[in-house]
Amino acid sequence: MSTSFKVAEYYGCRVFDSHLMRERLSEGAYAALERSMRGEAELTLATAEEVATAMKEWALEHGATHFSHWFQPLTGVTAEKHVAFIGLENGSAQVISEFSGKELVKGELDASSFPNGGLRATFEARGYTTWDCTSPAFLREDATGTILCIPTAFCSYSGDALDVKTPLLRSMEAVNAASLRLLRVLGDNSAARVIPMSGPEQEYFLISKEKYLRRKDLVYTGRTLFGAMPAKDQEHAAHYSGSIDECVGAFMKDVNDELWRSGVPAKIQHNEFAPSQHEICPIYSTANIATDQNQLIMETLKKVAERHDLTCLLHEKPFNGINGSGKHNNWSLVTDKGKNLMDPGKTDEDNLRFLLVLSCVIAAVDRHAGLLRLSAACVGNDHRLGGDEAPPAIISIYLGETLEKELQELTRESGTHHFAKEQLRTGVPFLPAFNRDMSDRNRTSPFAFNGNRFEFRMVGSSDSVAGSNTVLNSIVAEAFNEAADAIKGANDPESAVFEVIRRNMEQHGRILFDGNGYSQEWVEEAARRGLPNLPGAVDAIPELVRPESIRMFSSLGVFSEAELRARVEIRYENYVSQLHIESRTMLNITRKQILPAVIKYTGELSASINQVRTALPGADTTVSEELLARVLNLLSEAGEKALSLEQKIREAEETPAIPDKAAAFYEKVAPAMEELRAPLDALEKCVDKKLWPFPSYGDILFDL
Ligand code: ADP
Ligand code: MG
Repeated sequence: MSTSFKVAEYYGCRVFDSHLMRERLSEGAYAALERSMRGEAELTLATAEEVATAMKEWALEHGATHFSHWFQPLTGVTAEKHVAFIGLENGSAQVISEFSGKELVKGELDASSFPNGGLRATFEARGYTTWDCTSPAFLREDATGTILCIPTAFCSYSGDALDVKTPLLRSMEAVNAASLRLLRVLGDNSAARVIPMSGPEQEYFLISKEKYLRRKDLVYTGRTLFGAMPAKDQEHAAHYSGSIDECVGAFMKDVNDELWRSGVPAKIQHNEFAPSQHEICPIYSTANIATDQNQLIMETLKKVAERHDLTCLLHEKPFNGINGSGKHNNWSLVTDKGKNLMDPGKTDEDNLRFLLVLSCVIAAVDRHAGLLRLSAACVGNDHRLGGDEAPPAIISIYLGETLEKELQELTRESGTHHFAKEQLRTGVPFLPAFNRDMSDRNRTSPFAFNGNRFEFRMVGSSDSVAGSNTVLNSIVAEAFNEAADAIKGANDPESAVFEVIRRNMEQHGRILFDGNGYSQEWVEEAARRGLPNLPGAVDAIPELVRPESIRMFSSLGVFSEAELRARVEIRYENYVSQLHIESRTMLNITRKQILPAVIKYTGELSASINQVRTALPGADTTVSEELLARVLNLLSEAGEKALSLEQKIREAEETPAIPDKAAAFYEKVAPAMEELRAPLDALEKCVDKKLWPFPSYGDILFDL
């Protein structure tokens, strides 16, 4: 490197990456590990033994005191159990020698406290964590000390997946196999592996910690359950990609520093549309590493915010009426030779392959639209999807005009098509002509083609990208397999390819939509086209166990039927527990904080009206009286709605079967919460600010 780049000196210093492994392992062990990393051979205990020793030495040199298997159970957050590198010998502390290959590749823990959806009885509480050697181990350095974290998959005693990582890894294998089959029938023998890539853009809010702590709704549920819109709203904030406030910038600087040390290639940062909303985006990587790195990004945002007396909100919709946060998941398939299957390429051959791939993605997404919707379903996202500037809950694909036209034409005629990238001149003489992107942006589309990748915009900001990547890999693997079957052995392979493209377009072209996805007309049009509209998480859960889903997942070896049924159970349970917390929090805050404040205000108001009347007989007190009447009206409405919410919660609690219980929370409790919120927000607008028990939207969003 000609000029020195400071970051390069410490980038990845906390990661036990392939360079270090190559340096510290014997040639044989490193070669064996590489084979396992490519999925060609299982990791032997002998290799694991050598890796464990090297990893331990490296970690100890960096001051590590513990190691931990780091995994992603179905709780939505990561889990870990620290084990100190300490042993006792004749009463004195020693570094344990037991961090062996066995400890590295397999951990055992009591899994009964993790969601399992009935996959294990509590008496079979064993759960296993197994090293995912394709994702590097790393050191976590913070106030806890230095911990060696080993990314692992998590499964039950009987081998059923209890996490988000295992199915993701299986789906990566499935799409690799299917892509290779397809490439082979197309006569491409150069690729040895096809890898799904993911680049998740992470949105978040950054607010004052002091204000956060005064909002118990934020503390307990991650979102505000009350809050009137401020007088200045986001339309006038001029915040998007505006200059970054120094206080936020200082936070971002520390976040980048932490991430770079941890080998996470944080690349882009900017202000997002809503006030106090921002985005961070890494350079994409293989889907499993991207999943782990995204978890690290979320952890780091939260941790660093604390150090700055700030709080990072990862919830999908922390503030009603203000844009929510998502995680645009950029997804593509790239060969080990670096060829991106989503790239139109330069030759006719490449273009034909590209169109075939595209048509398969179209078929896959149309056939499993509900499943893709489900992959982005979480309680928080129910408030975001279909809301301000967020994708609708209906899945559709945006390709851009050129491509859509090209594909439609292909359904009419055959022949090879070449995309000469149109030169677009900017009209400004000193700007060079640049190749216009194949498609313009359509921000309203949930699944948009972006030149060389698809961008799935539905995923929630707090969610793992594992779920959506697992679904994308799997459904596309199914479509590739079908295409390969149809082309294989055909007398005229080229016309067989055209035939597949034509069939995919004819049967599944209805999923393409380039209009305004935010509009009501689209909801109606989508219904006419027969596209599923699943507005809430609860509506989407059964998609997992539709016969088509079970057939697809089990034939690819991604999920067994039992695993899918367990996930349905877990999703219902998570929904119920989240709504239970939210609804009870709402009742508590209403009764213990808001109503007392309002009652106090009515007392003060009426006392002051009396005082004025006594002191100034005949004075006009209509303004105060009208205000008092309005507040009293809203107060009694709020009291009523609180009783009604309480009743709905009780009914939901008493509903026995879990799907019905979830439905009761979704259909009865959630609307009752909205109904209670209305008079309370109206009260916030007319009650003396000094008496209001917590900071308003305006206080939080415009004043860090
Ligand atoms: P936008 O302009 O759409 O907000 P960004 O530049 O913020 O996009 O983020 C784009 C993300 O997509 C980055 O993480 C980038 O690394 C990732 N990305 C780029 N190319 C690919 C690809 N071929 N496959 C997957 N992700 C990609
Ligand atoms: Mg972006």
